Amino acid sequence: MRRNYFVKLLKYMKNVYHIDHGLSRLTDRRVSPKYKTPQVILITLLAFQLRIKSMNELKYLLKENEFRSLFSSGTQLPQIDTIIDTLKSVDTIGLKSILKYTVRKAQKNKVFQNGTIGGLTVAAIDGTKFFGSNIKCCSECMKRNGHNFHSGAVMSTIGDTPTMVLGFDQQRSWEENLSKEEGELNVAKRLIASIKENYGTLVDVVVYDALACNSVWINHCVNLGIDVVVRAKENNIKSLRQIKKETNKKDPKVIWYDKDGYERVEVYESEYEMEHVDQALKFVKFTMKRSNDRYSQIMIVTTLMETGLHTLFKMIRGRWDIENSIFNNLKTECGLEHCYIHNGNAIEAILCLIFIASNIMQLFLTKRLRNQYGTQKEIVRLLFKGLYFLKYQKEYSFSTA
Ligand SMILES: [Zn+2]
Repeated sequence: MRRNYFVKLLKYMKNVYHIDHGLSRLTDRRVSPKYKTPQVILITLLAFQLRIKSMNELKYLLKENEFRSLFSSGTQLPQIDTIIDTLKSVDTIGLKSILKYTVRKAQKNKVFQNGTIGGLTVAAIDGTKFFGSNIKCCSECMKRNGHNFHSGAVMSTIGDTPTMVLGFDQQRSWEENLSKEEGELNVAKRLIASIKENYGTLVDVVVYDALACNSVWINHCVNLGIDVVVRAKENNIKSLRQIKKETNKKDPKVIWYDKDGYERVEVYESEYEMEHVDQALKFVKFTMKRSNDRYSQIMIVTTLMETGLHTLFKMIRGRWDIENSIFNNLKTECGLEHCYIHNGNAIEAILCLIFIASNIMQLFLTKRLRNQYGTQKEIVRLLFKGLYFLKYQKEYSFSTA
């Protein structure tokens, strides 16, 4: 087997993203453990690269000894109970550093040098529930109407690939009494501040939902030096209702045909001042007609005063893609909504590992394999095939060398 994609991926993780280095620093709170943290976490990370959907699936991979060729002969491998115990107490700050390192390394390797949309590096935030249960709960659960859950926000790049998760944050139990929107906005504010701290000037623009169409969010981002695009829906801000009315009376600024899958897009724009915001803003309305004669519209508020309307359209549509493809992909393909292990530390650790796996896979597909493979399903199939060959053909095992 000339092209073992599993070996290629391992080498890529090791040589380009120095995963072994990050793993070697990890510790956990198990008492005199038989298996070392880096070994346990490496296996779990590889399992997420293989898109396991439950701990049960991992249990069978371990039972079948699928990972034995990755370690020198005679090395005993942990079983599922050890993995679960480790995840419950592993140092999540160390795991977050590995996630951060994947992004900073990509940044250094000039992955984002041309931006992701119209020359700008654009990221989107998606607030989501990570896990929920009506039966079980843990000390870090949020509780609402008898439902126990963990929720938070994820920020990832949008536009040109690779799509990379830049970071995530969880809602804390002391935020439980806030409304859903307030709680999510709080998390998003923390998240974007940490993104700025971790990656400096990497993100030029952040795209977010209507719940952030207010002075609190816009001022927060402007203070961080990041431009804002937010959706403007039904809103209790007086000035926004006013500007909508004014814009409705105008003629379209531009109309384009047959672009981005719509038959006709009319674009209306107005300059806009929002209460408690010093920064000049723009209000833009896109009315899209589909080929079946159905209409839809998107309205946005943005601090990007000079950016072309086409580019703004791509940005707000990219935000939809995060729900329709990227994030959904993580939810359905990586089992983000599955409660792998209901424990605060384990949830944080698993989220880190899912995002590290996803970033490396995105970079591997776009930079190393240059998008030869259309679907992730296909590459996962090839990875399993590679792992299988490793198991039975000793000469491909490089860890014994
Ligand atoms: Zn919980």
